[in-house]
Amino acid sequence: MRDDFDVIVVGGGHAGCEAAAAAARMGARTLLLTQRLQTIGEMSCNPAIGGIGKGHLVREIDALDGLMGRAADAAGIHFKLLNRSKGPAVRGPRAQADRALYRQAIQTMLAEQQNLTILEASVEDLLLDAAGRVAGVIGHDGRRFGCGAAVLTTGTFLRGMIHIGQQSTPAGRVGEAPSVGLAHTLARLGLPLGRLKTGTPPRLDGTSIDWASVAADHGDADPEPFSTFGPGVVNRQIVCGITGTTARTHAIIRDNLHLSAVYGGQISGRGPRYCPSIEDKVVRFADRERHQIFLEPEGLEDDTVYPNGISTSLPHEVQVALVASIPGLEHARILRPGYAVEYDFVDPRSLRPSLELRAVPGLFLAGQINGTTGYEEAAAQGLMAGINAVRLCGGLEPALLDRSQAYIGVLIDDLVTQGVSEPYRMFTSRAEFRLSLRADNADLRLTALGAGWGCVAPARQRRYQAFETALQRARRRAEQERLASGTLAALDAPIRPDSGERSLIGWLEHGGVPSHVLEQVCPWLTDLPQRVLEQLRTEGLYAGYLHRQDAERRMVLREDGLALPGDIDFAQIGGLSHELQEKLSASQPTSIGAASRIQGMTPAALAAVTAYVRRRKAEHAVCFT
Ligand code: FAD
Repeated sequence: MRDDFDVIVVGGGHAGCEAAAAAARMGARTLLLTQRLQTIGEMSCNPAIGGIGKGHLVREIDALDGLMGRAADAAGIHFKLLNRSKGPAVRGPRAQADRALYRQAIQTMLAEQQNLTILEASVEDLLLDAAGRVAGVIGHDGRRFGCGAAVLTTGTFLRGMIHIGQQSTPAGRVGEAPSVGLAHTLARLGLPLGRLKTGTPPRLDGTSIDWASVAADHGDADPEPFSTFGPGVVNRQIVCGITGTTARTHAIIRDNLHLSAVYGGQISGRGPRYCPSIEDKVVRFADRERHQIFLEPEGLEDDTVYPNGISTSLPHEVQVALVASIPGLEHARILRPGYAVEYDFVDPRSLRPSLELRAVPGLFLAGQINGTTGYEEAAAQGLMAGINAVRLCGGLEPALLDRSQAYIGVLIDDLVTQGVSEPYRMFTSRAEFRLSLRADNADLRLTALGAGWGCVAPARQRRYQAFETALQRARRRAEQERLASGTLAALDAPIRPDSGERSLIGWLEHGGVPSHVLEQVCPWLTDLPQRVLEQLRTEGLYAGYLHRQDAERRMVLREDGLALPGDIDFAQIGGLSHELQEKLSASQPTSIGAASRIQGMTPAALAAVTAYVRRRKAEHAVCFT
């Protein structure tokens, strides 16, 4: 370890905060440099953490002792488990957060972190040594800071340009200067830069919304926190509203499309497919009569409302008409217009799996600078970049997670091997092994690994150890305890009394015996800590799914050479996501093997295609013989 600092992190957004905290937790002398101290932990767009796929990332960050889950719990004001009607593996924990409380929680955790210095400065350039390794950074005022490794997490700021209608203003976020010097440095280093865009809706004054005329959106009655060893959900929970666009809204948008920055030609970068602007939605889904809008208050003591679903770059006056055409918002006041932001990103294929740039040893990139979108994707990369920056300084091998271990592994593997053509966001459908990568078992998958890397503080390690020991003990007992079907059926379990004897684990896996019956026969279950009991139940429930996942994987291996006819209509195959239907239609793979190499393909999707093709072949055989 050398110089002024071991690790310097540039940027105090979601990636930067996790990178700096992880590096400091590992004992590295860490410096966080960011343009404005007060915006550390700022949520640039929607005031929410988690969601489908993203919630898994937050749990994994938490399992590695990161900040995001704890901050979301401290700030959460409306928790909801998304996809509740689907299989537990793809359910997405999500919490709407009080924007100010979230920032405050992150800033407090960073302030309490040992080994971490935080300074306000805009980094304009990098210092490289004679061998081309990063040796430090230079601030806007000429100050130089030396380091062993640096992590850049500049988000949407690299040559950021904000667009509202025909007006374009250089900015990384509204009211914040873009990062231009650093963008020039990266270009000078010959890094492959591209342009992407994202957008945000107008903010509304909640006191001017007619709440009585919109549907109420309640959070979960029994909110589930993100952090498994934190204090839980602490705030009063609020009710949000649901409204939607109308034919009038769509007409206003169509009539003014030429004035939108995106459609008027001001923006060249591609936007996020899954977070499209309202202009995009009206154009791409022209037959839809209504698009849903969630009215999300930004805080307990804040009247600002975030209308989730109408991100736009139309001129301000058009936004006023657009908002007024929405039921409940007829008299709503716009506090700040929506806008689009366009920025430079670095092609992530120029990174090693450790997130270190191949071309500049010691320089790591994390977050939106790598072409992702979303707080959770940024935080996950920041955490891994921070860990690996410290390991590099200490001469250690990088800490890597593969696709079967974590969503973080899927995210980084997708980025560094496939690159991005549009802002990348996480979905459960991207993970082939999603039945084993569940939100509930993130600790079991990752905490021991993180402890080995040194990024899990002793306090969390102790609590995890106690949980794991209790779970192991309960598992062993559940494997040994034999229960006869007759005993269970006598207690009204809906099973045949003569179906034999199984272990308690076997009955949990069977799924046909209600929990209260098992608890009546094995009263020791009720003495288990709640989390241990839940984990035991979930493992039982998933054992069957995991057998199926294995069977699907074996079938796909067997069917690798199965030819796919050229005229398949992939939209006709049940069980394929819209995204996979599009990808398969576009690439028209000629075999199952070729289909399996499409990004985001899953064993379950391949099994569905295989079954369809086999069925079609059988039908044709019947017709023509
Ligand atoms: P950021 O959170 O942007 O943080 C970057 C940090 O770097 C800031 O603190 C900045 O001050 C600092 N910084 C930049 N340059 C320098 C420098 N040279 N020196 C020192 N500090 C520097 N995500 C979604 O998932 N859905 C959306 O709909 C969505 N819409 C968005 C709309 C807008 C207008 C914006 C701005 C972002 C939107 N996002 C959206 C993206 C989301 O905000 C980011 O994905 C996330 O914040 C990225 O985190 P990050 O840490 O990479 O960068």
